[in-house]
Amino acid sequence: MHVRNGLVEAIGHTPLIRLEGPSKATGCAILGKAEFLNPGGSIKDRAALAMIRAAQAAGTLPPGTPIVEGTAGNTGIGLALLGNALGYPVRIVMPETQSREKQDALRLCGADLRLVKAVPYRDPGNYVHVARRLAEAEGGLWVNQFDNTANRDGHRDTTGAEILRQSGGRLDAFTCAVGTGGTLAGVGLALKAHDPDIRVVLADPMGSALYAWHTTGELKSEGSSITEGIGQGRITANLEGAPIDGAVRIDDAEALRVLFDLIRHDGLVLGGSSGINVAAAMRVARDLGPGHTVVTVLCDGGARYQSKLYNPEFLKARDLPVPDWL
Ligand code: PMP
Repeated sequence: MHVRNGLVEAIGHTPLIRLEGPSKATGCAILGKAEFLNPGGSIKDRAALAMIRAAQAAGTLPPGTPIVEGTAGNTGIGLALLGNALGYPVRIVMPETQSREKQDALRLCGADLRLVKAVPYRDPGNYVHVARRLAEAEGGLWVNQFDNTANRDGHRDTTGAEILRQSGGRLDAFTCAVGTGGTLAGVGLALKAHDPDIRVVLADPMGSALYAWHTTGELKSEGSSITEGIGQGRITANLEGAPIDGAVRIDDAEALRVLFDLIRHDGLVLGGSSGINVAAAMRVARDLGPGHTVVTVLCDGGARYQSKLYNPEFLKARDLPVPDWL
């Protein structure tokens, strides 16, 4: 018998799943780290826990201190659950463009949710700055996931270490999209420490500036994406010095086709960033040729986006592919 004590110990230890459809299509082993199985439903439970633990260790989170964060939703859900289990009130600032399902999940957890207009980072009304000012005004802890490197350290020590253990360290490449960069940088650092020849590839949605940054050195974006929680216009502290060997850009139509196939052929209902990640893994696998192993991350589940990614009206209005069974 193996019992995990409470929410904290239930985070992480997720399976590494061989994705049969993508593996068959590419002749490679495409392996997905099943982060949608975390208690809060996403990869961000790990970052939330790592950042809370780091603040406790630094003495900046005495019992009862409000935890304040700006988030696309998933970090907020992780923080709200942990706040409940560990005794901290949680205040979340989120752009109003994020899915209704994530807003509902945050309210269900009892988070104090404030929705703000979606404006660029340079605007003082951006959700990140609103969260910082709210924390200052209330004597709360601003988690600051983008520039708090406890996020990346947590992924290096848990997500990265688990991938190495579960794959026996035998992998050729890793693909990952970036929101804060914590996952890509943390896992990348763990993989490179084990074997510098493992290729770390950035998977970028349209509308993000990182593909251009990696390929031309200039932070520049074009287009847009319906995916949530990923895409970045600046080099966050978590991304600073991340080991990145290559970058691929994936548009929404390609990501959606991969997501629809994963539902019908693999039995996995996943969120948009997982579609970007798996599509990128398949591109890298085709470049490497048959017989290689490519690992990626299944960041969250599709139920969180049913009103968007899996809503025929939403897709049709944007000229995106609609699955024939919906
Ligand atoms: N996918 C989803 C669904 C997310 O919510 C996030 C985090 N915003 C990411 C991917 C990106 O992860 P990271 O912040 O570690 O770059």
